[in-house]
This record gives sequence, structure tokens and C-alpha cells, in this order.
Amino acid sequence: MKKVKKNKSLMDFSISIEQESIIESVNKFLSKNITPLEQIEYDKKGTAPYHLMEGMAELGLFGMPFPEKYGGSNVGWDTIALIQEHMGKKAYMAASLLNRTIGFGGMSLLKFGNTDQKSQIIPEIIKGKILFSLALSETGAGSDAAAIVTQAKRASNDTWSIKGNKIWVSDAAESKYMVVACRTDMKTSGASGITLFLVKPSTPGVIITPMRKIGTNWMPSYDVNFDEVIVSDKNMLGDENGGFKHLMTILHFARAGMAASVSGLAQRAVDIALNHSKERYQFGKPLAAHQVISHRLADMQMRVDQSKLMAWYLAWMIKENKDCRRYAAEAKVIATETLNFVTDAGMQILAGAGYDLDTEMQRIWKDGRLYTFGEGTNEIQRNIIAKEIIG
Ligand SMILES: Cc1cc2nc3c(=O)[nH]c(=O)nc-3n(C[C@H](O)[C@H](O)[C@H](O)COP(=O)(O)OP(=O)(O)OC[C@H]3O[C@@H](n4cnc5c(N)ncnc54)[C@H](O)[C@@H]3O)c2cc1C
Repeated sequence: MKKVKKNKSLMDFSISIEQESIIESVNKFLSKNITPLEQIEYDKKGTAPYHLMEGMAELGLFGMPFPEKYGGSNVGWDTIALIQEHMGKKAYMAASLLNRTIGFGGMSLLKFGNTDQKSQIIPEIIKGKILFSLALSETGAGSDAAAIVTQAKRASNDTWSIKGNKIWVSDAAESKYMVVACRTDMKTSGASGITLFLVKPSTPGVIITPMRKIGTNWMPSYDVNFDEVIVSDKNMLGDENGGFKHLMTILHFARAGMAASVSGLAQRAVDIALNHSKERYQFGKPLAAHQVISHRLADMQMRVDQSKLMAWYLAWMIKENKDCRRYAAEAKVIATETLNFVTDAGMQILAGAGYDLDTEMQRIWKDGRLYTFGEGTNEIQRNIIAKEIIG
């Protein structure tokens, strides 16, 4: 009989012993160090559990994407996404700190930092000592981020002077470095002529003012004014006038972390609704025994399962070094819209029990409202997907 040649499998969904062990350690660490109630309190106080970063570093989480020569473990993005998903479910605040540190700041450094920046900053990232913020958005430049007008002009042979105003810079005051996008070539408009600079919030001329918002209060956001802020060539991250392209190149790493952790957070919302539906009795039976509620729960879980699968697929594509522009956009849209779907349904299922400011569901519901437009609006993601498929 002719032997059938076995094809290499497209994807392997089994979790390795190493992955299982790190997930277990991360879950244990989070269970011990932050409860759901404490997360609600952090949100009320308007600050994040930054202290967790030390323990996260001890677990090796900040070293995951980096080569061994910097002290990292260089694990694949499939492992990073799995961990992000579990962290998102248990403590999204910690997952977000991790993602913004490695998915955004760390990968920017690794891909575009010069030799000195890499050798000095990456080991500090791995130790959990560095938080990055991104100063890109301006009042006139949101979805159209390339429309920024903040300028960096030559002040001397090796220094620059930054002048302009950024809004919604999350963790600006708490971060060690703000990655500031500036227009450096005044002759051009749009995506070309933009350069990235690493700027410490304590630099003279940087004025940081807190902004008020409806959710994600645990991640403070700021208006940041740059009044003739002097930085040197050494602060430049990547190529002069190549900053916008750099940002676009690394976005899929941050989106992979976001899609995975938001999927985990959505699972948390489903679990809360599920538990409540089993415990709460109305008309002599648990809510879950009313078919309308059970179908709603089924719809919620289906959406979360789709979202997780898409996040895993994206992580696999990154690991395999495949072009994933379309899939990064898809995973971001699916995860964030899933979160809005399940929290909206969750608020309906919990009803009065979800409207109390001391409950998790309302916090996740409010936080989730940001993610469909933060980190690239879902409309712009759809533009990307459409361009990729239509050509
Ligand atoms: C809590 C919070 C935290 C944030 N953190 C940061 C941060 O750390 N760093 C940072 O730089 N920015 C940050 N932002 C800014 C965020 O990235 C922007 O809000 C986002 O890019 C959208 O810009 P906008 O709010 O100006 O909306 P607009 O650009 O005014 O868009 C309004 C609506 O129009 C749609 N739209 C616009 N153009 C198109 C188009 N061509 N086709 C279809 N639809 C379109 C949008 O999708 C959106 O629905 C944060 C914002 C918030 C609220």
C-alpha cells in the first residue's frame, strides 16, 4: 500500500511542559500578589500596581523577547501570547505593564536602538526597572497620527530642541522614558520627516498635566507639553526621519500582546457572568437556567474562543516570521470588540450587581471602551485589512 506522506502540521495547540510551568508560576505569583478587589482599589486610586514589576522580572517575564546576550531568554511569541492571555485574565493591569514594556518599548529598542542604547537599556528592561510611554497623539493628530506638528529642531551640532504638545500620554509621569514622535524635516508633511526621541519626563521644559477619564484610571494619562526641551543625538531612537516607519514596523508585537491579554480579560468577564448566573436565583431557579441567559453566555464564550484563536494565530505568525500586518489588525479588532460584546452582555446579566462601583464587571466594561480606539482605532485597522485583501 502506498504510504501517505504526513504534512508538517500548520499549528500545534499543545502546550509544552516549559510553557505550562511558567503559566503556573505566573498564576501563582499574581494570585499571591494582587486580588480582584485590590485591582478595583488601584483603579479608584488612579495608579497601577507598579510594584509587581519586580516580581515579574524575577519570573523572567521582561526578558522573554530578548536575545541571551542581553540577559533575555528569547522565547517565541507563542509563549509570550499564552502568558499574556493568562495574565489578562488574572490581572490585566500587570499584563498591560508587561506589554507596554516589552511589546512596545522593548521591541522598539531591540529593532531600532543603537548599540549603546541596547546594551544600556535592555538589561534594565529585563530587570523590570523601566516603563516606557508613547507620546504620539496630539489634538490634531489621532487616527491620522502622521499629522503631528510637534517639532524637534537642531539646537547645536549634536542637540535638538523639542517644542509641541502631546495628549493622552499614558504613564508619562511614571515612565523612565517617553518615546516622543517629532517632526524633524519641516519640508515634509505626513509620515516622512518624523523622528523618535527617548525623553526622560524629568528633562527641563517637560510639563506633565494629568487628564481625567472614564476608565483605565489605573493607567494615568497626561497632557505633556514640550517647551524647548533639549535632547541630544544620543536620545534619538532609530533613523532620523524614519520614526513613523519604525512605529508601524513594531506595532504588531504590541498588538499580539494586546490581543492575547484582552482575550484573557474577556474570559474573566465571561467567568464573572457565568458564576453570577449560577449563584443568583430569580423565579425559583438560577439565572443560568433561563434559556435567554444561557444562550447569551454561549455567545459570549464563543466570541472569546474566537478571539483567543486569532491571538494565537497572530503569535504563531510572528514566531514564524511571516508577514502579519493583516492578522495583527484582525486580532486587535476581534479581541477588543469581543471584550465590548462580553462586558455589555455581562453588565446586562449582572444588572444591579454589576452597576456597583465596587464590582469588577463595571471596571472591565469601562476599561474596554478604550481598546476599540486606543492603539490604532478599529476603523483604521479595517482600512489596513481592506487594503491587504483588496490590494
Ligand atoms: C485613555 C487613553 C489612553 C491613550 N494613550 C495614549 C498613549 O499612551 N500615547 C498616545 O500617543 N496616544 C494615546 N491615546 C490616544 C489614542 O491613540 C487616540 O485616541 C486614537 O488614536 C484615536 O484618535 P482620536 O481620539 O483623535 O480620534 P479621531 O482620530 O478623531 O477619530 C474619531 C473617529 O473617527 C474615525 N476615523 C478617523 N479617521 C478615519 C478614517 N480615515 N476612516 C475611517 N474612520 C476614521 C476613528 O476611527 C474614530 O472612530 C490614548 C487615548 C485614550 C483615550
